[in-house]
Amino acid sequence: MSITAQQVTKVYGTQRALHDVSFSISKGEVVGFLGPNGAGKSTMMKIITCYIPPTSGSVSVCGFDVREQSIDARRCIGYLPEHNPLYTDMYVREYLTFVGKIYKLKNVAQRVEEMIEMVGLGVEAHKKIETLSKGYRQRVGIAQSMIHDPKVLILDEPTSGLDPNQLAEIRDLIIRIGKEKTVMLSTHIMQEVEAICDRAIIISKGNIVADSSTSELSHLTASGSYEIMVEFSGEINTQVLKKLSGVSSIEPAGNHTWLIKTNTSKDIRKDIADLATSQGLSVLTLTRKEQKLEDIFKELTTAQPSSTPVE
Ligand code: ADP
Ligand code: MG
Repeated sequence: MSITAQQVTKVYGTQRALHDVSFSISKGEVVGFLGPNGAGKSTMMKIITCYIPPTSGSVSVCGFDVREQSIDARRCIGYLPEHNPLYTDMYVREYLTFVGKIYKLKNVAQRVEEMIEMVGLGVEAHKKIETLSKGYRQRVGIAQSMIHDPKVLILDEPTSGLDPNQLAEIRDLIIRIGKEKTVMLSTHIMQEVEAICDRAIIISKGNIVADSSTSELSHLTASGSYEIMVEFSGEINTQVLKKLSGVSSIEPAGNHTWLIKTNTSKDIRKDIADLATSQGLSVLTLTRKEQKLEDIFKELTTAQPSSTPVE
């Protein structure tokens, strides 16, 4: 496992920011850590990266406990904190060299050039960081986080505040990096997870409310129901269709076309096709309507009781 979190709780004063959070991330996975502002994303990432200790529970990175073997854990981690803190009065090369020296890299100059190449900083590399656009500053931040070739990358809202072009470029960069490394990135944007990640862990008010692959997530809802649009080749017996196991309601949606709502997460498409055949009909089109990740997110995060204060 690259990252394992077991029953992590974090209390700031009287506020509980994380409550009994457990998950594990395997080598090579690209995981989106999704949640609204204040959900506890940055807190979890600061614990993983050894910036703050958990109040209780344990976290290990590449097998190293973040409290007991903090230095070993940190060697495995590249971290881009939220709001990307940079020394803006330094030049790009100067800054990356500075970071490389902190890690005591032997071949700093060569590694700096490799990073500049990898993140596409070439044309801007001779400039002072303060003169760079936000997108290029993010590239500097990502280069900084990867200079010591860590196995695990923790990126806290890496695309927040970028314009659409910069956003696309940084997403592409993360997709490229994700092929080589284990990546955990936080975001409150659903499309980001759909675009970049294999898996989403959704957090709300310090609790994990969903953990599933991105493709499964768009099939799931908190209630487990979904919708199917189906077009038959002729008049279907609607009484029989309504009684099919798993069907909660049907609505006409055009010529021999019906919108079927289910009361199950079970896949009933084959049952619908069999039913049509038994009535001497064919299914011309059948689509399971993907629920937008956004809707699922809303459903999951508003269903939670507000339970942040410590009893
Ligand atoms: P997110 O990154 O998901 O927006 P955070 O982890 O930053 O959420 O914050 C989770 C909760 O913990 C918020 O309610 C926030 O106000 C609180 N919090 C974060 N850092 C501190 C701190 N240093 N002291 C007190 N409360 C904090
Ligand atoms: Mg945050």
